Amino acid sequence: MSRSALAQSLSRLPKVDQVLAEPTLADSGWRRTVCKRLVTDALGELRARVRGGEAVEVPDAAGLAASVRAELDTWVRARPRPVINATGVLLHTNLGRAPLSRPARQAMVDAAGTCDLEVELHDGSRGSRFTAIGPLLRTVMQVEDAHVVNNNAAALLIACTVLGPPGGVVLSLGQMVEIGDGFRVATMAAAGGCTVIGVGSTNRTHVGDYEAALAGQAPGFEGVRASAILWVHQSNFEQSGFVKEVGLSDLAKIARAHGVPLIADLGSGSLGPGLPEREPTIVEYIEQGADLVLCSGDKLMGGPQAGIIAGRRELVHRCRRHPMARALRPDKTTLAALHATFAAHAREGSPALPLHEMVGAQPDALQARARAMAEALGWSASEVVVPSSATIGGGSLPGDSMPSVALRVAGDRPSRVARALRLGEPAVMGRIEDGAVLLDLRTIDPADDERVVAALRGLAGA
Ligand SMILES: *Cc1c(COP(=O)(O)O)cnc(C)c1O
Repeated sequence: MSRSALAQSLSRLPKVDQVLAEPTLADSGWRRTVCKRLVTDALGELRARVRGGEAVEVPDAAGLAASVRAELDTWVRARPRPVINATGVLLHTNLGRAPLSRPARQAMVDAAGTCDLEVELHDGSRGSRFTAIGPLLRTVMQVEDAHVVNNNAAALLIACTVLGPPGGVVLSLGQMVEIGDGFRVATMAAAGGCTVIGVGSTNRTHVGDYEAALAGQAPGFEGVRASAILWVHQSNFEQSGFVKEVGLSDLAKIARAHGVPLIADLGSGSLGPGLPEREPTIVEYIEQGADLVLCSGDKLMGGPQAGIIAGRRELVHRCRRHPMARALRPDKTTLAALHATFAAHAREGSPALPLHEMVGAQPDALQARARAMAEALGWSASEVVVPSSATIGGGSLPGDSMPSVALRVAGDRPSRVARALRLGEPAVMGRIEDGAVLLDLRTIDPADDERVVAALRGLAGA
């Protein structure tokens, strides 16, 4: 574009005040400073595109006001918005991990107003937000004491900040896990000033490596005696071949011999019944000698985002009294949902939380649902109902899969079909495999089958 043409395009852009004066913004009920910011940003973006040589259709004041208004009006919709998980990943971190049970959801709503969060109703005295949930946590996990924080990362941060000094924690290089979005366990453990003494190698770590760190002889950390042992569950990946990891019970012996605590970051937090048995449980970790177990509330526990610090009374108490515990404490709605979740875990048998329903669904039941959905759509079941494979996700049982059933959605351009489903009402998120969109029945709540059918009907017009 020539200089003069550029100048001309730029001069045709409406002025901020002109756009703001348009009735669609002026009478919108949205705050003027909010409108102004959006208009200014939109104009700035247009200017940059014109300068960048793009052939931009320059809007007039009314046109720009209308597009800003359209953006503002999306704000009244609840976000994050509900999405039907048809990915086949049971605990999908990007979709909010564990779906909560109906009682847990109701408990959150009920606690959302004023509630007896920190008051003893029997005498009106000041109470603690952890009093009511304490017995549930202790008895279900079979531990001396337990504390709740915002998430497992917070639990790790507090435990290492409190128990790490002065010498720091010793951690095998084979357990220096990255849990996603670039966040690494070792850096989170160190974030509160705790030294992390990495020992061993990627594939093999021996008892002697831990002994050396506890004696102040770890390579690169000479003279620093580790004050605690950190054991991290290998989330999200598996190692095989020439590998060696020191087991938790052997580490417990070393920890006892040196008088240091053993902290086990379990991550997923299984409580047992209703889940694949290969996944270690909190109770097993404690039995094997962990002094503190850390885990997430929204992975295999099937509850809300939360971090649990469970184990020895004195150690839990020190974590609870650290200033960080105040900074990382859970809110009333989280505690309400966690309470309802633990109440389910206290029942005999499978706790029947949505996660456990997904895990326990029988392939023939999934098959029957898929067929019914195909039939409702007038699709040929023999063509669209296909075998699938679901995974737990959330860093649990990497490499493990569960037989499942999927609906295969036809379409020349699967990425377009997938996008239309994501943007539909209800939003449905599937996965693309072998050139088609698959909707995996194992992660779809049976109560949502009809809504998925409706979403698929809506595709016809897309
Ligand atoms: C998931 C995970 C974490 C982080 O838990 P959040 O609750 O997401 O903070 C930490 N450690 C391990 C081993 C994990 O699997």
